[in-house]
Formats: sequence, C-alpha cells, structure tokens
Amino acid sequence: MNVPLTTLMGLSQRPGELGGFGPIVTEVARRLTLNQLTNPDARYTVGVTHPITGQLLHLHPLPQRFLRGLQAELVHALNQRCVWPTCRRPAATCDLDHNTPHADGGSTTPANTAPLCPHHHSAKTESTWTLHQTTPGHYRLTDPHGRHHHTHPPDLTDPAPPQPRDNPKPPPAPPPAPPPAPRPATPADDDDPPPF
Ligand SMILES: [Zn+2]
Repeated sequence: MNVPLTTLMGLSQRPGELGGFGPIVTEVARRLTLNQLTNPDARYTVGVTHPITGQLLHLHPLPQRFLRGLQAELVHALNQRCVWPTCRRPAATCDLDHNTPHADGGSTTPANTAPLCPHHHSAKTESTWTLHQTTPGHYRLTDPHGRHHHTHPPDLTDPAPPQPRDNPKPPPAPPPAPPPAPRPATPADDDDPPPF
C-alpha cells in the first residue's frame, strides 16, 4: 500500500493506493499503516509517497522483530530446550530471545536468538544477565556478578551405533602369549651353593 506523507501526518485527506485494488479512503490507509507498525504478523509494506510528485520516499516494513518460519524452526530444532542451564522446558514452548536486544540493534536471525522459557526470558530481560551465542547452539550466559555459565546443543544423532542386543559379538581373543625364553646361564649361577 502506498500513502502520501501528508496523509499520514494528518495534514491532508488524500487517499492511499492499495496494490491490485486501487484507491482506499484516508482512514483505511492510516489504519493499515498503524497495523503494519504494531502487528508483527503484518505481511505487507507501506510505501510513503511525496504528496506532490507521488514518488516513493520510503518503503516501510520495520526491521523484522520476530523470527518466523524455517528460521524459528531451526532454532527450536538446534537447541531442543530452553538454553538456560538446567532448564528442561521444550524449545517449542519457549520464547525466542534476542541475545542482543532488538532495540539495541540485535539482528533477528538464528545467530542472535535462543529459546528461553517465559520465566527465564523475564529473568534475562528484567535484570543484567546476558546471553551470547559463541557458535551455533553454544551459549555463554553471564550472571550479574560476571560469572559465566555455558550450555551446548544436544546430540541429535547417536555418535556411535549401539551393538545389537540379541547376538552380541564376543570380544576378540587376545593373541597367545609366546613361550618363555630359556634363562641363559650366567657365571653367578655357577657360584650358587647347591641345595640341601
Ligand atoms: Zn527456562
């Protein structure tokens, strides 16, 4: 949707234009703009146009604030659970936390997000805990006293296939020991006193 800048500023009543539809009344254009600003699920852009020339001045969506779709699935699948140490809450029921807050310029990408359950999400955002992803799925949580706590992602596959249970193979037999070598005679042996 395109809308003149002056309409958004309340200085004119010029209508907006909805792509594929045509002109829309001023009030609807303003509401669609507000919805785009406040609704994270809004899937359209708002073009702000020059009131005289009609040229595009700015295309708005805000930088994406919430991780969605396959990227969110990746963070869930990678971590499986809330990344707070000892927490077992499944990732699918967690919030996706911006490690560097969105308001501070943190990107909405898997590299800057982590599943945190609502309790631990609040604990992080309402205090001075910080969370940093060192490599994918590996997090360093720093408490208010500067102590570090590390978490890593779970193994999703068995690194070594288990032996079959019904007919386990016996361990290989050790090689036979060589016969002991005969003890060489030494002069000292000749000096031994004979047994009684
Ligand atoms: Zn948690």
